[in-house]
Amino acid sequence: MTARILDGKAFAARVRGQVAEHVARLKADHGITPGLAVVLVGEDPASEVYVRSKGKMTVEVGMVSVEHKLAASAAQADLLALIHRLNSDPAVHGILVQLPLPDHLDEDLVIDAIDPAKDVDGFHISNVGLLGTGQKSMVPCTPLGCLMMLRDYHGDLTGMDAVVIGRSNIVGKPMAQLLLGDSCTVTIAHSRTRNLPEVVRRADIVVAAVGRPQMVPGDWIKPGATVIDVGINRMDAPEKGEGKTRLVGDVDFDSCVQVAGAITPVPGGVGPMTIACLLANTVTACCRANGLAEPE
Ligand code: NDP
Repeated sequence: MTARILDGKAFAARVRGQVAEHVARLKADHGITPGLAVVLVGEDPASEVYVRSKGKMTVEVGMVSVEHKLAASAAQADLLALIHRLNSDPAVHGILVQLPLPDHLDEDLVIDAIDPAKDVDGFHISNVGLLGTGQKSMVPCTPLGCLMMLRDYHGDLTGMDAVVIGRSNIVGKPMAQLLLGDSCTVTIAHSRTRNLPEVVRRADIVVAAVGRPQMVPGDWIKPGATVIDVGINRMDAPEKGEGKTRLVGDVDFDSCVQVAGAITPVPGGVGPMTIACLLANTVTACCRANGLAEPE
């Protein structure tokens, strides 16, 4: 028996369709068009690809996309001034600063400058606190996408044992909070965890957010468990031709798919859900800003 493949590409397309419907209603009923501003500092090729595809999908669902590109040498004060301008622009409902920033810029200060109501990445400390205390917040896009896939597959997650591998602020920690919010029994594992294979073997749900290619093998997985692979790692792929690369996750797909009950592929799993959730968060921010009912 092999695992069911959780198709994030198809799911994300459905979510974007719902976002587009909501955007159309906002325009028709209230004359409001949600706007997302994306700020890119420097010329990191991977970040440029992400920003381009975010912009394209923002426009596809009918929202306004504004891109602000600053030179890699941009001063902290200039970046903060731009964020303040976007904070006070009523046509901008969501602000995303593409990370990582060049080393001379202070990421914490930059995130802290974003109006929490427009913080569609959910990284502002106010949103982190709201999420941690179970209050209405902006939820980080990648963990939100993972949770949506888990709820879609399982329905109720109550009482399930969940192991999140990775404790970053952008994936691991908020993922754990969301699973706790859905009444899972949550373990957060990291580089100092003892007996990681044994810890993972207890889990009904494994979320791998490590950044190490194919680190989790099939013999760590409890038969029938659900495996969510957040990792995006680029590897050389000489079999595809000289200089070619391919994407792999943090999970060894070929062995895990033999044991798990369900698994997300890389690419085509969590990745597409992240952008779909960013668009959904922007609509949510727009509705809240205008005192309107939020999407479900
Ligand atoms: P970080 O590097 O910030 O965090 C990695 C975490 O993994 C850390 O908590 C680290 O532990 C832990 N870790 C590292 N090595 C081990 C190990 N050997 N055993 C157990 N834990 C370990 O990464 P991110 O959270 O930002 O990203 C994780 C992955 O997810 C990356 O591949 C990234 O590309 C991908 N990603 C994908 C997204 C998507 O849209 N699909 C979005 C964001 C990220 P410690 O804290 O102890 O150092």
